[in-house]
Amino acid sequence: MNKLKREWNKKPNRMSARIEKERKPNKCPNCSASPVASILYGYVGMDSVLEQKIEEGRVSLGGCCEGMGGPVWECTHCGLKIYQKLIVKKLS
Ligand SMILES: [Zn+2]
Repeated sequence: MNKLKREWNKKPNRMSARIEKERKPNKCPNCSASPVASILYGYVGMDSVLEQKIEEGRVSLGGCCEGMGGPVWECTHCGLKIYQKLIVKKLS
């Protein structure tokens, strides 16, 4: 007798705090602050333009060790990390 039902499919996924967006949101989905910063990975040449962007909260530095699979955007107001949702195209 196998009465196992896939009830877990109906449950809302509350375990994941991961925020995913297909494209960069204009404002933070958590605190509505704007702009949301793009996280730059790797070695970044610091110049006055970049410094200005960081100052304005448009860019956030993610360091050189993360990258693949890491968050793409960050709210500099509340620190919310936002991941880019991969759009999977269905093959017909
Ligand atoms: Zn925020």
